[in-house]
Amino acid sequence: MDQLHIPDRINFECSGCGNCCLKWPVPVTVEDKDRISALPALTARIAAEPDRLFRPLASSDPKFQAFSFTLEKASDGRCEFLTSEERCLLHAEYGPSSKPAMCQLFPYTFNTTPTGTYVSLSFASSGALFNLGRPLSEQQALLIEKWQLFKSLFPAIRPDWSRTQLIDGHLMPWEDYLRLDAELIRIIGGFNRRRVDQQLAAASRFLQEQLPARTNLERLPKMEARPKQVDQLLLKQLFELYLPDDLYTWRLPDLDAQGLMRQIVSPPQTVLLVSDKQSFGFRELLDSELGELDSQSEDLLGRFVYCRAFAKLYFGPGFANLSVLSGIHHLALLTALVRLKIKMIARKREGRPVEFLEVAEIIRALERRLSQVNFSKESVAILEVLLCSPERAERILSLAA
Ligand code: SF4
Repeated sequence: MDQLHIPDRINFECSGCGNCCLKWPVPVTVEDKDRISALPALTARIAAEPDRLFRPLASSDPKFQAFSFTLEKASDGRCEFLTSEERCLLHAEYGPSSKPAMCQLFPYTFNTTPTGTYVSLSFASSGALFNLGRPLSEQQALLIEKWQLFKSLFPAIRPDWSRTQLIDGHLMPWEDYLRLDAELIRIIGGFNRRRVDQQLAAASRFLQEQLPARTNLERLPKMEARPKQVDQLLLKQLFELYLPDDLYTWRLPDLDAQGLMRQIVSPPQTVLLVSDKQSFGFRELLDSELGELDSQSEDLLGRFVYCRAFAKLYFGPGFANLSVLSGIHHLALLTALVRLKIKMIARKREGRPVEFLEVAEIIRALERRLSQVNFSKESVAILEVLLCSPERAERILSLAA
């Protein structure tokens, strides 16, 4: 068995809030269906309506080959097994192993690399958002069990790290990446020491120092007559993709790459961000300085970024096949989006502070969208070119400062 790497200072325990059992489809295996259908309290109900709970799953995605059904949701979007006390009926009556395998796996994530598998958590879970329970580092036996489950459910997931790049065109052997990784995690892992946006700026500077002198990182100079507008157009598209007003609207989980390119070539007069049906200009957002968040929110944002960095969920097969530098800048952009969203909420309320629970819901939404995005090659290419620019990353971070 290869090595399991577990992040430090990350805790988890299910809070039993039932939030992960709302709206989102749960893929189900044949074994899950047979096991659940045979439960005494359910046999009669399932026999009366055999297709009511399990809808055949028609997915061509090879990652989902182990799943044949999805668990049908009630008309209000709740799982049929979620009780009015927000408890899973299957878990309460028959124990955790009676639940669908995907429910047993959530919120653990596993990312396999040439030097072992990295554990992380989905921040769609309240337990992860609130850092509840014992440290993951003290739950090794449980993590190994979940990892085995993950491997049995997703045998086709075999990430290929052979094309790891520091920036586009600069291939890097995995051992070289690991040397950089140790320093990156030292910079990003200190989430109680300084603001995460400042940590990411430091991580970007460290990576730039690893490049040969005079490497060109500003790749679109001719097309970027107005670079700040390009920043705004990119932020607008990613804000709409990652933090839409209606999280459950089933939109294409991709950028409009051609539309973005058209607007870069011929930018509109004004770019506005729309949140909760209200429009905000970038000048207005720039003028309202946010500063440091409350300590709980800062800690949460830090844990979210640290988990992604620790588990290599920000570059290569870990995220959109971005290069390492563009991946770090994408993480910086995610923190900027969260901070911009907080600014917008605060402005709507004329400055009344945004509560930690509201910040947690922003990060929960972001995590859910990140797990759904599926970028086309065209989108990846444009993201790589726009995100590799350190000047852009710096400007975007200062917009959200
Ligand atoms: S089966 Fe249980 S754990 Fe899974 S979504 Fe339904 S209520 Fe939640």
